[in-house]
Amino acid sequence: MPTLTRTNPIGVHALVWVGDTSPASVERAITQTKDAGFDLLELSLHDSASLDTAAARKSLEAAGLGVACSRGLAFDADVSSADPAVVARGEALLQESLATTHDLGGTHLTGALYSALGKYGQPLSSAGRANVVSVLRELAREGQRRGMTLGLEICNRYETNVINTAHDALVLADDIGEDNVLIHLDTYHMNIEEDDLVRPVHEVGDRLGYVHIGENHRGYLGSGHLDFTSFFHALADIGYGGPITFESFSSAVVMRGLSNDLAIWRNLWSDGADLARHAHGYITGQLAANHHP
Ligand code: MN
Repeated sequence: MPTLTRTNPIGVHALVWVGDTSPASVERAITQTKDAGFDLLELSLHDSASLDTAAARKSLEAAGLGVACSRGLAFDADVSSADPAVVARGEALLQESLATTHDLGGTHLTGALYSALGKYGQPLSSAGRANVVSVLRELAREGQRRGMTLGLEICNRYETNVINTAHDALVLADDIGEDNVLIHLDTYHMNIEEDDLVRPVHEVGDRLGYVHIGENHRGYLGSGHLDFTSFFHALADIGYGGPITFESFSSAVVMRGLSNDLAIWRNLWSDGADLARHAHGYITGQLAANHHP
C-alpha cells in the first residue's frame, strides 16, 4: 500500500462563512475553518476596511491556520488603465494589500491583481498592458523583500480582459520577469476559457503557485459537470504541492462589492458549514485517490 501523505495546504474562501471582515466575522470564519478541518483561510481584501489585522493574526496563529489573501481591483483603481491617475489608485490598493497580507502572517497575495473584476467594453490597450507589467514588477520586488509570492489568478472574459488563459498568464509573468510571480488556476474560470482542465496544468507546470477549486456554477463540488478527477490527476502529474482552496459563492452570504463584481445572484447553498465539510472531504478524497499507483 502506498503511504497516504499529502502536502498541499487545503484552504477555504472566507465568503463560505461570512460576508464581511469585521472582527466578529473574522473570528467566526477562523473557528469554522478550523472546525471543518481546513489548513488555510483565504481572506478577500476586496472590501476589508473593517479588518483588524493584528487581532486576526493572533486568532489565526492560535488556531494553527495559514492565511492567504486575494483581491481584484476596481474600474476607478485599475492598473490596466491607460490613465495614470487610475493606475496610481490601483497601485496604492495593491501595496496596501501586500502589507496587510504580510501583517496577517501570510505569504501569498493573489487574485485579479492586474485589473478590475468586471466586464470590460473593449480589449486591453497596449498602454494598459505596459502599466500592468510595470506596477506588478514593482509589487513583486516589494514582495521579495518580505518573502512573499504574488499569484496571477486567471479569470474569464466577463471578469477581465487582461489574462483569460494559462497561456496569457505565462506570457504576462514572463514580461513581469520576477521569480515570485506565480500562476493561479481556478477550475471555474478554466471551464469557460480553456480546452480542458488538464492541458493548462501541464503548460503551467512548476510555475503553478495557487489553485482555486470551484464548480462550474460555484456551488457544491460534484454537483456540476467539471471533471475534477482529471484535474487532480494533472496536479499529481506536475507534483503540485501548493495550496488548494475551495471557492464557492451563494446569495446566502454576501460581501457587498465582491458578490456584485462576481455576479452572485443565486442561492446555490444556504449552509456554509455543510458545504465546507463536504468540500474538504471531496478534495482530500481526490488527493488520496491520486496516491494509488
Ligand atoms: Mn477564484
